[in-house]
Amino acid sequence: MDDQDDTLRSRARGGGCPQIVVARHAGYCYGVERALRLTEEAVRTAEGPVATLGPIIHNPTVVRRLEERGARMVEDVAHASEGTLVVRTHGVPPEAVGEARRRGLHVVDATCPFVAVAQRKAAELREAGYLVVILGERDHPEVVGLQGFAGPEAVVVEDADGLRPSLVCGRRVGVVVQTTQSREHLADVVAALAPLARETLVFNTICDATEKRQTAACELAGQVDAVVVVGGRNSANTARLAKLCREIEPRTFHIETAAELRPEWVRGCRRIGVTAGASTPEDEIEATIRALERLCEPAAGE
Ligand code: SF4
Repeated sequence: MDDQDDTLRSRARGGGCPQIVVARHAGYCYGVERALRLTEEAVRTAEGPVATLGPIIHNPTVVRRLEERGARMVEDVAHASEGTLVVRTHGVPPEAVGEARRRGLHVVDATCPFVAVAQRKAAELREAGYLVVILGERDHPEVVGLQGFAGPEAVVVEDADGLRPSLVCGRRVGVVVQTTQSREHLADVVAALAPLARETLVFNTICDATEKRQTAACELAGQVDAVVVVGGRNSANTARLAKLCREIEPRTFHIETAAELRPEWVRGCRRIGVTAGASTPEDEIEATIRALERLCEPAAGE
Protein backbone atom coordinates (compact mmCIF):
# COMPACT_ATOMS: atom_id res chain seq x y z
CA MET A 1 0.00 0.00 0.00
CA ASP A 2 2.87 2.32 0.78
CA ASP A 3 4.09 2.91 -2.77
CA GLN A 4 6.62 5.60 -1.90
CA ASP A 5 8.64 3.39 0.40
CA ASP A 6 10.47 1.63 -2.40
CA THR A 7 11.63 4.87 -3.99
CA LEU A 8 13.37 6.43 -0.99
CA ARG A 9 15.66 3.72 0.29
CA SER A 10 18.40 4.74 2.66
CA ARG A 11 21.25 6.20 0.68
CA ALA A 12 24.39 8.06 1.41
CA ARG A 13 24.78 11.14 -0.74
CA GLY A 14 28.18 12.17 -2.00
CA GLY A 15 31.46 10.53 -1.22
CA GLY A 16 32.76 13.39 0.86
CA CYS A 17 32.22 14.51 4.37
CA PRO A 18 29.66 15.00 5.70
CA GLN A 19 27.50 12.29 4.24
CA ILE A 20 23.81 12.97 3.87
CA VAL A 21 21.69 9.93 4.63
CA VAL A 22 17.98 9.72 3.85
CA ALA A 23 15.70 7.52 5.96
CA ARG A 24 14.57 4.22 4.42
CA HIS A 25 10.96 5.37 4.61
CA ALA A 26 10.23 9.07 4.21
CA GLY A 27 7.81 11.33 2.38
CA TYR A 28 4.42 10.78 0.77
CA CYS A 29 2.37 7.84 1.98
CA TYR A 30 -0.40 6.00 0.19
CA GLY A 31 -3.20 8.04 1.83
CA VAL A 32 -1.65 11.38 0.88
CA GLU A 33 -0.96 10.33 -2.72
CA ARG A 34 -4.53 9.10 -3.02
CA ALA A 35 -6.00 12.32 -1.59
CA LEU A 36 -3.91 14.48 -3.93
CA ARG A 37 -4.87 12.32 -6.92
CA LEU A 38 -8.58 12.62 -6.06
CA THR A 39 -8.29 16.40 -5.63
CA GLU A 40 -6.44 16.85 -8.91
CA GLU A 41 -9.02 14.66 -10.69
CA ALA A 42 -11.80 16.81 -9.24
CA VAL A 43 -10.08 20.00 -10.44
CA ARG A 44 -9.72 18.49 -13.93
CA THR A 45 -13.20 17.02 -14.30
CA ALA A 46 -15.66 18.84 -12.03
CA GLU A 47 -18.03 21.30 -13.69
CA GLY A 48 -18.35 23.83 -10.86
CA PRO A 49 -15.83 25.18 -8.33
CA VAL A 50 -13.77 22.75 -6.26
CA ALA A 51 -12.98 23.27 -2.59
CA THR A 52 -11.28 21.15 0.04
CA LEU A 53 -12.76 21.01 3.52
CA GLY A 54 -9.75 22.17 5.54
CA PRO A 55 -6.23 21.61 4.18
CA ILE A 56 -6.30 18.39 2.14
CA ILE A 57 -2.99 17.43 3.77
CA HIS A 58 -0.86 19.14 6.41
CA ASN A 59 1.68 20.72 4.11
CA PRO A 60 1.27 24.45 3.40
CA THR A 61 3.35 24.35 0.17
CA VAL A 62 1.21 21.60 -1.36
CA VAL A 63 -2.01 23.31 -0.26
CA ARG A 64 -0.85 26.56 -1.89
CA ARG A 65 0.01 24.74 -5.13
CA LEU A 66 -3.45 23.14 -5.20
CA GLU A 67 -5.10 26.51 -4.64
CA GLU A 68 -3.18 27.91 -7.61
CA ARG A 69 -4.59 25.06 -9.69
CA GLY A 70 -8.16 25.75 -8.64
CA ALA A 71 -8.86 23.83 -5.42
CA ARG A 72 -9.48 26.53 -2.81
CA MET A 73 -9.70 25.62 0.84
CA VAL A 74 -12.74 26.31 3.03
CA GLU A 75 -12.71 25.86 6.79
CA ASP A 76 -16.43 25.15 7.06
CA VAL A 77 -19.07 23.46 4.86
CA ALA A 78 -21.11 26.67 5.12
CA HIS A 79 -18.42 28.46 3.09
CA ALA A 80 -18.97 26.25 0.02
CA SER A 81 -22.24 27.06 -1.73
CA GLU A 82 -21.88 25.06 -4.96
CA GLY A 83 -19.70 22.60 -6.83
CA THR A 84 -17.48 19.89 -5.37
CA LEU A 85 -16.24 19.52 -1.82
CA VAL A 86 -13.24 17.25 -1.21
CA VAL A 87 -13.03 15.72 2.26
CA ARG A 88 -9.51 16.03 3.67
CA THR A 89 -7.16 13.05 4.19
CA HIS A 90 -7.70 13.28 7.97
CA GLY A 91 -11.47 12.78 7.60
CA VAL A 92 -14.27 14.86 9.11
CA PRO A 93 -17.22 14.11 11.43
CA PRO A 94 -20.11 12.39 9.58
CA GLU A 95 -22.35 15.42 10.21
CA ALA A 96 -20.08 17.57 8.00
CA VAL A 97 -20.53 15.21 5.04
CA GLY A 98 -24.31 15.09 5.68
CA GLU A 99 -24.44 18.89 5.75
CA ALA A 100 -22.45 19.14 2.48
CA ARG A 101 -24.88 16.77 0.74
CA ARG A 102 -27.89 18.68 2.12
CA ARG A 103 -26.42 21.84 0.59
CA GLY A 104 -26.35 20.09 -2.80
CA LEU A 105 -22.56 19.79 -2.98
CA HIS A 106 -20.92 16.90 -4.78
CA VAL A 107 -18.73 15.21 -2.17
CA VAL A 108 -15.42 13.53 -3.03
CA ASP A 109 -14.25 11.56 -0.01
CA ALA A 110 -10.44 11.69 0.16
CA THR A 111 -10.37 10.39 3.75
CA CYS A 112 -7.39 8.05 3.97
CA PRO A 113 -8.70 4.44 4.03
CA PHE A 114 -6.68 3.82 7.23
CA VAL A 115 -8.41 6.76 8.93
CA ALA A 116 -11.73 5.42 7.62
CA VAL A 117 -11.03 2.09 9.39
CA ALA A 118 -10.49 3.95 12.68
CA GLN A 119 -13.75 5.87 12.10
CA ARG A 120 -15.62 2.62 11.43
CA LYS A 121 -14.20 0.93 14.53
CA ALA A 122 -15.15 3.94 16.67
CA ALA A 123 -18.74 3.79 15.34
CA GLU A 124 -18.94 0.01 15.91
CA LEU A 125 -17.69 0.33 19.48
CA ARG A 126 -20.21 3.08 20.18
CA GLU A 127 -23.07 1.00 18.73
CA ALA A 128 -21.98 -2.01 20.81
CA GLY A 129 -22.26 0.08 23.98
CA TYR A 130 -18.57 0.62 24.73
CA LEU A 131 -17.21 3.86 26.12
CA VAL A 132 -14.88 4.89 23.30
CA VAL A 133 -11.43 6.13 24.31
CA ILE A 134 -9.57 7.87 21.49
CA LEU A 135 -5.81 8.10 21.94
CA GLY A 136 -4.71 11.19 20.05
CA GLU A 137 -4.15 14.93 19.99
CA ARG A 138 -7.35 16.60 21.16
CA ASP A 139 -7.52 19.33 18.51
CA HIS A 140 -6.15 17.39 15.56
CA PRO A 141 -8.70 17.19 12.72
CA GLU A 142 -8.43 13.40 12.54
CA VAL A 143 -9.33 13.15 16.23
CA VAL A 144 -12.17 15.67 15.85
CA GLY A 145 -13.49 13.50 13.00
CA LEU A 146 -13.15 10.33 15.08
CA GLN A 147 -15.13 11.94 17.90
CA GLY A 148 -17.99 12.46 15.48
CA PHE A 149 -18.09 8.69 14.89
CA ALA A 150 -17.45 7.74 18.52
CA GLY A 151 -20.30 9.83 19.90
CA PRO A 152 -20.64 12.56 22.51
CA GLU A 153 -19.62 10.31 25.39
CA ALA A 154 -16.24 9.50 23.82
CA VAL A 155 -13.12 10.43 25.76
CA VAL A 156 -9.97 11.78 24.11
CA VAL A 157 -6.69 11.13 25.90
CA GLU A 158 -3.30 12.37 24.81
CA ASP A 159 -1.41 9.91 27.04
CA ALA A 160 -1.91 7.48 29.91
CA ASP A 161 -1.79 10.31 32.45
CA GLY A 162 -4.84 11.87 30.81
CA LEU A 163 -7.00 8.87 31.63
CA ARG A 164 -9.41 9.78 34.45
CA PRO A 165 -10.01 6.58 36.49
CA SER A 166 -13.51 7.75 37.50
CA LEU A 167 -14.56 7.80 33.82
CA VAL A 168 -13.45 4.30 32.91
CA CYS A 169 -13.75 2.41 36.23
CA GLY A 170 -15.91 -0.70 35.82
CA ARG A 171 -16.86 0.25 32.23
CA ARG A 172 -16.60 -1.66 28.97
CA VAL A 173 -14.00 0.45 27.18
CA GLY A 174 -13.07 0.38 23.50
CA VAL A 175 -9.88 2.06 22.30
CA VAL A 176 -9.12 3.50 18.87
CA VAL A 177 -5.95 5.39 18.02
CA GLN A 178 -5.09 8.39 15.88
CA THR A 179 -3.21 6.83 12.97
CA THR A 180 -0.01 8.78 13.67
CA GLN A 181 0.49 7.77 17.32
CA SER A 182 3.32 5.47 18.43
CA ARG A 183 2.87 1.88 19.64
CA GLU A 184 4.63 2.73 22.92
CA HIS A 185 2.05 5.42 23.58
CA LEU A 186 -0.76 2.95 22.95
CA ALA A 187 0.84 0.31 25.18
CA ASP A 188 0.98 2.84 28.07
CA VAL A 189 -2.71 3.66 27.74
CA VAL A 190 -3.75 0.00 27.51
CA ALA A 191 -1.64 -0.82 30.59
CA ALA A 192 -3.29 2.03 32.50
CA LEU A 193 -6.78 0.89 31.47
CA ALA A 194 -6.35 -2.80 32.24
CA PRO A 195 -6.74 -2.63 36.05
CA LEU A 196 -9.63 -0.15 35.85
CA ALA A 197 -12.01 -1.18 33.07
CA ARG A 198 -14.38 -4.15 33.27
CA GLU A 199 -13.46 -5.02 29.69
CA THR A 200 -10.97 -3.43 27.29
CA LEU A 201 -11.24 -3.88 23.54
CA VAL A 202 -8.35 -2.32 21.64
CA PHE A 203 -8.16 -1.55 17.94
CA ASN A 204 -4.63 -0.61 16.99
CA THR A 205 -5.48 1.81 14.20
CA ILE A 206 -1.94 3.20 13.91
CA CYS A 207 -1.15 3.02 10.21
CA ASP A 208 1.63 1.03 8.67
CA ALA A 209 3.17 4.04 6.90
CA THR A 210 3.43 5.88 10.23
CA GLU A 211 5.13 2.95 11.93
CA LYS A 212 7.59 2.46 9.06
CA ARG A 213 8.53 6.14 9.04
CA GLN A 214 8.95 6.22 12.83
CA THR A 215 11.12 3.07 12.88
CA ALA A 216 13.25 4.32 10.00
CA ALA A 217 13.62 7.77 11.61
CA CYS A 218 14.79 6.24 14.91
CA GLU A 219 17.28 3.99 13.06
CA LEU A 220 18.57 7.04 11.22
CA ALA A 221 18.83 9.21 14.35
CA GLY A 222 21.03 6.58 15.97
CA GLN A 223 23.53 6.71 13.09
CA VAL A 224 24.04 10.42 12.42
CA ASP A 225 25.31 13.59 14.12
CA ALA A 226 22.26 15.71 13.23
CA VAL A 227 18.79 15.06 11.83
CA VAL A 228 16.71 17.33 9.61
CA VAL A 229 13.00 16.49 9.59
CA VAL A 230 11.12 18.04 6.64
CA GLY A 231 7.38 18.67 6.71
CA GLY A 232 4.51 20.92 7.74
CA ARG A 233 4.61 22.22 11.31
CA ASN A 234 0.89 21.40 11.46
CA SER A 235 1.59 17.78 10.45
CA ALA A 236 1.16 15.47 13.45
CA ASN A 237 3.18 12.67 11.92
CA THR A 238 6.08 14.99 11.01
CA ALA A 239 6.10 16.55 14.49
CA ARG A 240 6.16 13.05 16.00
CA LEU A 241 9.11 12.07 13.79
CA ALA A 242 10.97 15.14 15.04
CA LYS A 243 10.14 14.29 18.66
CA LEU A 244 11.26 10.66 18.32
CA CYS A 245 14.50 11.70 16.58
CA ARG A 246 15.21 14.40 19.17
CA GLU A 247 14.96 11.81 21.97
CA ILE A 248 17.79 9.89 20.26
CA GLU A 249 19.76 12.75 18.66
CA PRO A 250 19.20 16.13 20.37
CA ARG A 251 20.57 17.89 17.27
CA THR A 252 17.27 17.42 15.43
CA PHE A 253 15.68 20.24 13.43
CA HIS A 254 12.13 20.37 12.04
CA ILE A 255 11.85 22.53 8.91
CA GLU A 256 9.04 23.17 6.44
CA THR A 257 11.29 24.25 3.58
CA ALA A 258 14.97 24.08 2.74
CA ALA A 259 15.21 27.88 3.08
CA GLU A 260 15.05 27.48 6.88
CA LEU A 261 18.30 25.49 7.12
CA ARG A 262 21.08 27.15 9.13
CA PRO A 263 24.82 26.38 8.65
CA GLU A 264 25.45 26.22 12.41
CA TRP A 265 23.02 23.29 12.72
CA VAL A 266 25.31 20.99 10.76
CA ARG A 267 28.72 22.47 11.53
CA GLY A 268 31.22 19.74 12.43
CA CYS A 269 28.85 16.90 11.47
CA ARG A 270 30.25 13.82 9.74
CA ARG A 271 26.81 12.34 8.91
CA ILE A 272 23.55 14.24 8.55
CA GLY A 273 20.21 12.40 8.45
CA VAL A 274 17.17 13.57 6.51
CA THR A 275 13.67 12.28 7.04
CA ALA A 276 10.24 13.61 6.14
CA GLY A 277 6.62 13.28 7.18
CA ALA A 278 4.00 11.43 5.16
CA SER A 279 2.72 14.70 3.69
CA THR A 280 6.09 16.00 2.46
CA PRO A 281 6.56 16.00 -1.33
CA GLU A 282 9.70 14.43 -2.74
CA ASP A 283 10.78 17.70 -4.38
CA GLU A 284 10.96 19.31 -0.91
CA ILE A 285 13.10 16.41 0.36
CA GLU A 286 15.40 16.75 -2.67
CA ALA A 287 15.60 20.54 -2.19
CA THR A 288 16.65 19.96 1.43
CA ILE A 289 19.36 17.49 0.40
CA ARG A 290 20.69 19.91 -2.23
CA ALA A 291 20.66 22.79 0.27
CA LEU A 292 22.54 20.69 2.84
CA GLU A 293 25.11 19.75 0.21
CA ARG A 294 25.61 23.43 -0.57
CA LEU A 295 25.89 24.32 3.13
CA CYS A 296 28.56 21.68 3.60
CA GLU A 297 30.63 22.61 0.53
CA PRO A 298 34.04 23.90 1.57
CA ALA A 299 34.33 27.63 0.98
CA ALA A 300 36.51 28.63 -1.99
CA GLY A 301 40.16 28.72 -1.02
CA GLU A 302 39.75 26.28 1.90
S1 SF4 B 1 0.02 8.49 7.41
FE1 SF4 B 1 -1.20 6.62 7.25
S2 SF4 B 1 -3.24 7.23 7.94
FE2 SF4 B 1 -2.14 9.10 7.49
S3 SF4 B 1 -2.67 9.54 5.36
FE3 SF4 B 1 -0.78 8.34 5.33
S4 SF4 B 1 -1.43 6.22 5.05
FE4 SF4 B 1 -3.19 7.41 5.73
